[in-house]
Amino acid sequence: MNRENTKTTPKKREDRDPVCGKRINRNKAHITLQYKENEYLLCCPICQAEFERDPERYLQ
Ligand SMILES: [Zn+2]
Repeated sequence: MNRENTKTTPKKREDRDPVCGKRINRNKAHITLQYKENEYLLCCPICQAEFERDPERYLQ
């Protein structure tokens, strides 16, 4: 008998600052940037500047 194990694991997008790697609460993020149809949360102006300087580097 083949019992199907349908464990649905919804892909939960982790809200993470791509620059420093910190997990961020969406509501507490310094800024939310839209880049190439993706959203990126940045925790502080420093990370924002880093990201804007070279966004390609931080694409997920
Ligand atoms: Zn950061």
